[in-house]
Amino acid sequence: MAVSGISRIQDVAPWRLCIGCGACVAACTRGGVTLHNVESEGIRPRFDPSICRNCTDCLEICPGNQFDRYSRSDPSTRGLYKSDEMGPLLEVWVGSAADPEIRRQCSSGGMISAIALYCLEKEGMAFVLHSGPDPERPWLNRTVRSRSREEVLANSGSRYAPTSVCEDLGGIERSDRPCVFIGRPCDAAAADMLAKRRPDLDRNLGIVLSFCCAGTPSTRGTLDLIQSLGVAKEDVRSVRYRGDGWPGDFRVAVEGAKRGEERRMSYGVAWGRLTKYVGLRCRICPHGVGDVSDIACGDAWHRHHADEGNPGESIVLVRTPRGREILKKAMDAGYVRLTPTNEGAAIRAQKELLRKHNEVFGRLLGMRIIGVFTPRFLGFSLFRNWRRLSLEHRARSVLGTIQRVLTRGLWRKSKLK
Ligand SMILES: Cc1cc2nc3c(=O)[nH]c(=O)nc-3n(C[C@H](O)[C@H](O)[C@H](O)COP(=O)(O)OP(=O)(O)OC[C@H]3O[C@@H](n4cnc5c(N)ncnc54)[C@H](O)[C@@H]3O)c2cc1C
Repeated sequence: MAVSGISRIQDVAPWRLCIGCGACVAACTRGGVTLHNVESEGIRPRFDPSICRNCTDCLEICPGNQFDRYSRSDPSTRGLYKSDEMGPLLEVWVGSAADPEIRRQCSSGGMISAIALYCLEKEGMAFVLHSGPDPERPWLNRTVRSRSREEVLANSGSRYAPTSVCEDLGGIERSDRPCVFIGRPCDAAAADMLAKRRPDLDRNLGIVLSFCCAGTPSTRGTLDLIQSLGVAKEDVRSVRYRGDGWPGDFRVAVEGAKRGEERRMSYGVAWGRLTKYVGLRCRICPHGVGDVSDIACGDAWHRHHADEGNPGESIVLVRTPRGREILKKAMDAGYVRLTPTNEGAAIRAQKELLRKHNEVFGRLLGMRIIGVFTPRFLGFSLFRNWRRLSLEHRARSVLGTIQRVLTRGLWRKSKLK
C-alpha cells in the first residue's frame, strides 16, 4: 500500500499526517517555515505563502508523507537479514549502560545515552543533537546540542510530548565534524531523507540513534497529568516521564509554596492516560521500531517482570554496518554492557508495539475507503502482517477506523494552517 496523493506540503498537517519533526525547517533554504506548538495536536509548521507557494522541496523529505523502511540500509547488507516485524537487522543485543548512574537515571538502562557519550568522548564527534526539557516551561521540550556527560544526562530519558529535533539538522550540516543524532523513528527517517539530498549533512551524520516509539502524545496530555496530580502549571519545576529505576514513575517537582515536593504517578497509569493524546499519524505508523537508523533501542520488556529491581535494560537493534562498528567499539571501551540475543527476543520485548503494527494495513484501508489521505509506506509487509490477525480482528481494524474517522470528523482537513 504505497499510495499517498498529498501533493503540497501545506496539506500534510491539515490531513493530520504531520509528526512535528521540524525537517521542513531544515530543508528550507529560504526561511519559509516556522514551527508552532498546537497544545492539542503537537508541533506543526507554518509556511510563508510568498516563499512556499510553488515549492515542494520539503515534501520530498517529509516522513508524514512517505517512509522507506530500507532507505538507510547499506546496499551490501540490504538483503542480508530482513525481518517482517523488525525491519533491517544485522545484530540483536540486550543490555545497558555500564555506568550505574546513567543506567539508573535514563529510560531503559541508558543505552542510547551511553552510546552517544562514547561517540563524544572517544570518536571525537562534535555534539549530540537531541531533545530535552525546556527549563522555563518544563512541560515542553526543546531541541538541544549536548557536548558533555552532564548535558547528555540532563537531556536523557523519554519525553512523551512533542519534539522537533530535525529543525537543527542544519547545525549538523554546518559542523566541522560528525555529530550524533538522536530522534524518534520518524525523526531519524527525516534526517536520512534530507541527508540523501545534502552531502555535508550525510558526511556529518556520524551516527543515527533511535528508539522504539508507540507515538507522541500532545502537550495537553502532559498538562492533564500535571493537573491530575494537583499541581498548577506555574508551580512546575521539572517533569520526568520515567527513569530512576525501570520503568520509573512520572514525576513532577514542585515550586512555589510547596517547593521541594515531588508528585508521582506510576509509569503504567501515566502512559495509559497519555496514549489518548496520540494523533492520527502515530496511530497508522508501522515503523515504531526505528527501522531507519544505525541503532535502535527499546525497552527489553520481556525481561522486566522476571527481574524486578533491575535498573533497566534495552533491546538493541543494530541496523547498519556503521551501527555495528560503533556498538562494538563502545562495548570494548567499557561504555555499554551487552549480551547477544536474537530477533525472537526482540519480538517478545516489543509485542505490544508489533500488535499495533499488524493492524496498520486495516487502518490504512479504512481511511482510503472513505477518501482520507495516507502516507506512502515502502518496504513493509503490511498486508502479510495484517493477514496474521484473526478475521474478527482484521474486520475491526478496518471498520473501527472508518467509524473513528467519521465520528471524529477526520475525513476533512483540520483548520490548521
Ligand atoms: C514518544 C515515545 C514513545 C515511546 N514508545 C515506546 C514503546 O512503544 N516501546 C518501548 O519499548 N519504548 C518506547 N519508548 C521508550 C524508548 O524506547 C526508550 O527511551 C528507549 O528504550 C531508550 O532508552 P534509553 O535508556 O537507552 O534512553 P536514554 O538514554 O534515556 O535516552 C533517550 C534519548 O531519547 C531522546 N528523546 C526522549 N524523548 C524524545 C522525544 N519525544 N523525541 C525525540 N527524542 C527524544 C532524549 O533526548 C535522549 O537522548 C518511547 C519513547 C518515547 C519518547
